[in-house]
Amino acid sequence: MLDLSDLPVIDDHAHMFGPDAKDANPVRSFTMLEHPKDIEHQLLYHCAARALAKLYGCNPEEEEIFKLRKAKAQNNFEEFVADIFQKANIEALIVDPGYPPTITVEEFQEIVPVKVYSVERIDEHLFDEVMEKSNTFDELLDTFYEQLDQWFKKKDVVGLKTITAYVTGLNIPRVDRDRAEEIFKEFLKDKKRWIVEFGFGQKHYIGPFEMRIFLFWEALARCAEKKVPFQIHTGDGDMDMKDMKEASALLLQKSVLNDELAKQVELVLVHSSYPEVEFASYLSYVYTNVHIDLSHLNPFLNVLVGRKIEEAFMWTPFSRILYGTDAYGIPEFYWFGVMNFKKELERVLGYLVARDALDEDYAYKAAGMILSENARKLYSI
Ligand SMILES: [Zn+2]
Repeated sequence: MLDLSDLPVIDDHAHMFGPDAKDANPVRSFTMLEHPKDIEHQLLYHCAARALAKLYGCNPEEEEIFKLRKAKAQNNFEEFVADIFQKANIEALIVDPGYPPTITVEEFQEIVPVKVYSVERIDEHLFDEVMEKSNTFDELLDTFYEQLDQWFKKKDVVGLKTITAYVTGLNIPRVDRDRAEEIFKEFLKDKKRWIVEFGFGQKHYIGPFEMRIFLFWEALARCAEKKVPFQIHTGDGDMDMKDMKEASALLLQKSVLNDELAKQVELVLVHSSYPEVEFASYLSYVYTNVHIDLSHLNPFLNVLVGRKIEEAFMWTPFSRILYGTDAYGIPEFYWFGVMNFKKELERVLGYLVARDALDEDYAYKAAGMILSENARKLYSI
């Protein structure tokens, strides 16, 4: 049996939490709060309660965990967070600061005891800003490039990210400059008609889609130039996702992955196009610049995540699989991701060793790569 408990972890895709996390009900924070109906009959609810009960040394009852945890967290929140991160052996986090918008990376860095890096979103709020403030197309491009350059100057910014899968879908072939300029002129005639409610009640310029796609390719070109990775949200996301078929990584094959510019950029398929992890894995086999990230499905699939780890192993080299959680809201989320993932990784790798597909030394090496080394190398941290 492998034991991965001592290996350090870099979470390659997570979000942030603020000081209000000290009042949270942790069992419910793990589950999709948008759908509280039947929550106590979900596997994740039970699994989270049992894991938290072990962490706090109490019974796996929601109320008991909530009370005990509240007392601990309110007593000294900083110490409480530090203890949880230490137990999980987390070395660093790479966060997407796009969510939640209520806290900055600098503020979050004050709360957690590990190094925080970021991948910056090219979508909201940058898209809103350039569309809102620019009076000409040239001005729009200048503002866009200026923001990207500012990010690239910060040593803690290790890449870019897009959630365009939610909006335009991932069939996003190049849009030429003239067409984008024409679209922008149309936009200027009546800006208001493009405002749509998106992202938990916030208002954004969602369209025009061709402008977004044009800027996606501009950002990709900048990543190629600066040699930084680009995270692309693929597959399942939160409840804003209107059409999951459109977020399939398979759509990137025709529209992006065969493009010569895209081939120069290290692309990370965030969430491995869940539930189509096997497809994402296959893409990473065909395109050697494609990496897959196992966040969100870990820890949401909790003890069943091993099935998706197996799919990832079907085609993707161990050197291009990244550990992640998509954690937010409470520190325990980051901890649970590690504890849950390591157990399932031990089981899957253990099976491969028992089946004489891998030797034990290489199994440990593969685990080390997935849990931290691949991220360290890819993001140059
Ligand atoms: Zn995320």
